[in-house]
Formats: sequence, C-alpha cells, structure tokens
Amino acid sequence: MLNIDLHCHSTISDGLLTPTQLVEHAARRGVSVLALTDHDDVAGLGEARRAAAENSITFINGVEISASWRNKTLHIVGLDVNPEYPPLAQGLEAIRSGRILRARNIAAQLDKFSIHGSLEGAYSYAGKGGMIGRTHFARFLVERGYAKDVRSVFKKYLVKGKPGYVSHQWAPLSDVLAWISGSGGRAVIAHPARYKLGKDVLDELLLEFRTLGGAAIEVITASHTPEQSLLFAHHAQRLGLLASRGSDFHGPGESYFDLGQMPELPVGCTPVWHDWNRIT
Ligand code: AMP
Ligand code: MN
Ligand code: MN
Ligand code: MN
Repeated sequence: MLNIDLHCHSTISDGLLTPTQLVEHAARRGVSVLALTDHDDVAGLGEARRAAAENSITFINGVEISASWRNKTLHIVGLDVNPEYPPLAQGLEAIRSGRILRARNIAAQLDKFSIHGSLEGAYSYAGKGGMIGRTHFARFLVERGYAKDVRSVFKKYLVKGKPGYVSHQWAPLSDVLAWISGSGGRAVIAHPARYKLGKDVLDELLLEFRTLGGAAIEVITASHTPEQSLLFAHHAQRLGLLASRGSDFHGPGESYFDLGQMPELPVGCTPVWHDWNRIT
C-alpha cells in the first residue's frame, strides 16, 4: 500500500527542516506521496517538488490556511492548489501581513509580563521572508527557559487566557474555500477534533464547509485519538465528504507522528486521493 502523507511543515512556516530536508526525510520514512502544507505560504513548493522528483516521491502542492469562522480559528488544508492563482497568492500575502501585526501584539503582551525581546527572538527562529507564528515565539521562550519544551510553553504562555495570547481575525472561511477551489485545489478541514466544537456547532460547520465547496475531512492526524479518527471517518461518510491522512509533522522532536508514520484511513472512508490518476 502507498504511504501517503498530506500534511507537514517546513522552515517556510514553523517546521524545522528545509523543504529539501523534509522531502529527504520523507523518502527515508518510506513516504511515496507527500504534500507540503506550510501555514499561509506556498514559497516552499518549488524546492520541495524538485527534491521530490529526485527522491521518487509524488509531490502534491499544498498549503494550510488560517481561517476564521464564528470567532474561531480553523485550519484548512488546500491540496493540489495552483500557487500562482492570484486570489490565493494575494489572500495568503494578506494573511502573512496580518501575522506580522499579530506578532507585534504578542510581543507587546509579553513585554507587559516582563518578557522582553520576544519579537526579535521569535524572528530569529523564523525563515527569511516567511511567515511568523506562535511556534517561533514558543521556541524563543523555551530558549529563555520559560518552559522545558514547545508543548508546555504553549500551555503556559501562548493559548487563550495566557500572557502571550492575542485574538486575531484570519481570512473568512468562505474566502479561503473560494481561493482553494478557484485554484483547482481540494479543501480539507484540518484536525477537526482540535476545535472542540459541540455536536450541533460541529454539524453546522461541516455542512457549511460542504456547501461552500469543501471536499474532505482530515481523519488521520497527530492530534486525533483513535476514537476521534473513527468519529470523523463516520462524519465524512455520513456527509459524503472525502477523508485525508497527514502527520502534521513539524520536525524531529517536536511532533507526535513522524512523516508517514501513522495509522491508515479507517475502512469505509473514500480517500481524498481516490481519483488522483498520477498515484495509481
Ligand atoms: P499560529 O498559526 O501562529 O497561531 O500557530 C499555530 C501553530 O502553533 C500550530 O500549527 C502548531 O504548530 C503550534 N501549536 C498550536 N498549539 C500548540 C500546542 N498546544 N502545543 C504545541 N504547538 C502548538
Ligand atoms: Mn504549525
Ligand atoms: Mn493546523
Ligand atoms: Mn499543520
């Protein structure tokens, strides 16, 4: 069976490996189909595609877009997108500009808690010209000894109610789905269990997502328990949505699943790749 991993990050966003290193790592792990899905940025796709060709990996253009829906932040993975489609490219550019303003706000918040120099500190962990995000702040805070690792520093400093958290408006979900579909891609709702939605709100989200052209649910992801994967497999089947599988790998030592090292889709799901001729 092909080992397919459709969600991971490089140094273009908040991953630890360059696109080339990431693809080489995927090859060592036996991945045969890989999508690079950096947050709000497609700048790594060219390099990753070239590295994939050299490593006999089928490469899928991807991106993980930050979206707002009813005051909640959602992540939407676009697969097979055309990175040059102007509304997509311009939309991502606008999100990255918003990230720069948010980063200043995060640093100002941390200043109030006597944590100084975090803006420069975070940028020292970010790729040149790429996106800036909370993971970069997390790495800086770990470096300064505020917690033992990225995971615990998030809990103490960077989530809602904590010193370095600032709320932020991302792109409207409807815009994000229009950019992905318009560019010829397929939209996947990433790690849906992470949003902690009640049953009714979850149903409203999934129905709206489908109405707006959304295609698939990420069923297998590092942040799902086996029970949650089965639950979302069930939702996908019930709603006629496709199912995706991705590690959400950010780098050695920072991720729960290594590239390609995760369960297969549950029986009965229709994979998001079911009609991709190039991988059969
Ligand atoms: P941002 O889009 O800048 O708000 O950052 C979101 C990213 O932060 C996610 O993609 C993860 O890489 C990371 N992240 C979010 N929550 C946590 C957490 N609780 N522990 C570790 N990393 C997290
Ligand atoms: Mn991330
Ligand atoms: Mn995500
Ligand atoms: Mn991700």
